[in-house]
Amino acid sequence: WLGRLKSGLGLSSSKLSENLAVLTKRPLDDDMLEEIEDALIASDLGPAMAARITAKLAAEKYDRQVTDMDIKLLVADEVEAVMTKVARPLDITAFPRPHTILVVGVNGSGKTTTIAKLAHLYQEQDYRVMLAAGDTFRAAAIEQLKVWGDRLNIDVIHKDVGGDAASLAYDALTQAWELGSDVLIIDTAGRLQNKQGLMDELAKIKRVLKRRMESAPHDVLLVLDATTGQNALTQIDVFKEVAGVTGLAMTKLDGTARGGVLVAAAERSGLPVHAIGVGEKLGDLRPFDPRAFAEALAG
Ligand code: GDP
Repeated sequence: WLGRLKSGLGLSSSKLSENLAVLTKRPLDDDMLEEIEDALIASDLGPAMAARITAKLAAEKYDRQVTDMDIKLLVADEVEAVMTKVARPLDITAFPRPHTILVVGVNGSGKTTTIAKLAHLYQEQDYRVMLAAGDTFRAAAIEQLKVWGDRLNIDVIHKDVGGDAASLAYDALTQAWELGSDVLIIDTAGRLQNKQGLMDELAKIKRVLKRRMESAPHDVLLVLDATTGQNALTQIDVFKEVAGVTGLAMTKLDGTARGGVLVAAAERSGLPVHAIGVGEKLGDLRPFDPRAFAEALAG
């Protein structure tokens, strides 16, 4: 999987090295620092990280020759330092159960697939899992979750298209509780085009879950698609507001040159990164490994 992650991120790092290679032919001066900062920002790492790396570089190497390797090592160290603070798998061990995870994100981000991957992961650890098809707007989303449920032999609580998502969530939590499930994962609609509607719906889902079980939902997991680059940052802002996101998963890191955006996402939001998606198969959800990620990103 790391190979795939690298081949995804490698594109951005080669873009980064291309940019850096032309910059490192003379002793480090202000112009070069500015260009290096621009190159780092262009690689989706975000302005805060770019500024810090540039400042460190200036402190260590001003007026001296720098190689692109010097810069890459700094990038890798800085990315690892920042991401180590946010790398944290979901903790589903606490009682009471079921541990309830509300999964939010725009359509197409990989929500349904991530839910199936999480279900598979917990199933392999001998947890009893239940799913709820809470995206009641899209028939395809309900169908897709049912297909995953069949494959995994996991119950999927669902209603017809247009059904009330909050009452579905309430029923699912009730059933999960009665059946002694350990984990309940609830899909939701991702209709950002109707922000107020989405906010009302998610607030209602959270309210009824809490009514059924004070500590639920335990997690509100935002699924982000790495290939959308800077759009992911806007999505964090919106979903933090409408859903009270507690953590992130980033999908499609296997197929993008824009993996650096995860750094910007973590820095900007301060949210933990619970998992990353590196492929379409059930086994392609990984705990986030800051060192491997930093090395792959820096190239
Ligand atoms: P949803 O609309 O948010 O529920 O998104 P889906 O789960 O249906 O995923 C949308 C598409 O992205 C599907 O074709 C998935 O197979 C694909 N996908 C999801 N996660 C990943 C990933 O980590 N890597 C790759 N390459 N594809 C993914």
